[in-house]
Amino acid sequence: QIVPGVFRKAVEHVPVATSITDEHANILYVNPAFEALTGYSQNELIGKNESLLSDKSTPVTVYQELWKSITSGQVWEGRLVNRRKDGSSYLADLTVVPVLDDDGSVMHYMGMHRDVTGLH
Ligand code: FAD
Repeated sequence: QIVPGVFRKAVEHVPVATSITDEHANILYVNPAFEALTGYSQNELIGKNESLLSDKSTPVTVYQELWKSITSGQVWEGRLVNRRKDGSSYLADLTVVPVLDDDGSVMHYMGMHRDVTGLH
């Protein structure tokens, strides 16, 4: 199968911090842009929850809206405040895409985020 290999190589080179998680947001994969933006290595991130990135200053209602959308199979786009490994925070423009199995249940999520701090 050619496509999965090509897809992985393509994601590796996408200049947007990209991750794949299980249904609880536990990280299964991150691309090099994710490591570069957050300051964490792949080894430090795999198995951890995406909440590792939370600066804890984003209102909980934002996360509630996020989870309401994605658990019902809808794409969510929004902004939240993330914290890098070095403690610095940044404004993240995040898209979370639910990945459904053949029965339509959410099995995984793909997250993509950019640092938009400088744009504000
Ligand atoms: P949580 O314990 O997550 O709770 C916050 C609220 O979210 C709860 O009140 C609850 O209503 C809701 N909630 C949490 N888990 C579930 C669930 N399984 N089902 C239904 N509702 C739920 N967060 C970031 O801060 N930065 C990111 O870059 C980021 N990227 C993400 C990427 C992906 C692909 C996914 C799936 C999630 C991402 N998240 C991100 C969200 C993250 O998983 C946490 O929900 C968030 O960081 C809040 O963490 P918390 O520990 O403060 O609260």
